[in-house]
Order: sequence, then C-alpha cells, then structure tokens
Amino acid sequence: MNGINLNVIPCETNLKTDIKDNVNPCPVCNVSGSFVKNITVRHMIYDDLLENIGNFDYYLCMNEDCKISYYNNDFRVKFEKSDVKVPIWFKKGANSKYACYCSKVTEEQVINAVINDKATNMKEVLEITGAMTNPNCQINNPSGKCCHHTIQGIIDRALID
Ligand SMILES: [Zn+2]
Repeated sequence: MNGINLNVIPCETNLKTDIKDNVNPCPVCNVSGSFVKNITVRHMIYDDLLENIGNFDYYLCMNEDCKISYYNNDFRVKFEKSDVKVPIWFKKGANSKYACYCSKVTEEQVINAVINDKATNMKEVLEITGAMTNPNCQINNPSGKCCHHTIQGIIDRALID
C-alpha cells in the first residue's frame, strides 16, 4: 500500500466484491468483465428499465470501446452504457470522468491536486479534492468497488508526467 494511511480509505473495508472476475466475457466484445452485485446495477440503471434487472448479479464490460455496460450471460440480459445514469469513467466519450463518484470528484481534479497543489500522496489528494468524504461506492460507483484504486492510479500517472 506504499505507506498509505488506511484510516483515510474508509470505503476499502466494506466491499468484498473482488471475486468471480474473469471467465465471464462480454456478449458483444468478448472481453472479460468485472463482477458487480445486483444492488449496484439497480442503483445505476435508469428507473424505467428496473423491471429488466431481475435479482441476479452482473458483470461490467471493462472494454473502453464497447457500448455494453452490465450483462449476465446466463440470463441473457445486457445493458448499454446509455442505460446507466452516470458516465462510466473508463468508457470512451465519458463526459465527466469521475475518479470518486460519491463525492463527485473528477480525474481532472485529482491531476490538478498533484500538478498544481503539489500533492504527492493519497492523503493530500483527498484533503485537497474532498474525495472519499462520504463513501458509499457500492451504490455510487458503476463498478460497485471503492474508488481508492482508481484515484491511486491517477496520482501515480500524474506524478510521473
Ligand atoms: Zn463489451
């Protein structure tokens, strides 16, 4: 964890969805998806499509070029990224690339904290941007996972540039 203080990563502990990834390819692009719980999908999909969701869990297509968001091959259900209420940050054309969905902090704000405000670590970035102040990633982040890894990745890239 590179010496990061776990006390500033409040959402890291309440999510245990990093299981069952791989093997389940997207029905359109065939790239492996990332496991997402039903409750996440239920909060992400527009209300008029709620009856199509069912009670099963999903996978999120991680291919930036693919228009598919969530899918379940067993039940032959798939949604497009346009069916999701928020822009999915890693998809091409995402308008507002959120790093932290809970606090609505963008990738650009994280980069600015590093480049302009000289933040060098997660704790400083969180203080400057206000990211992760009210974390509930399971229902706010389209991946259903904590944004901590995404933010750390952005910091690492910004520090190199
Ligand atoms: Zn796909």
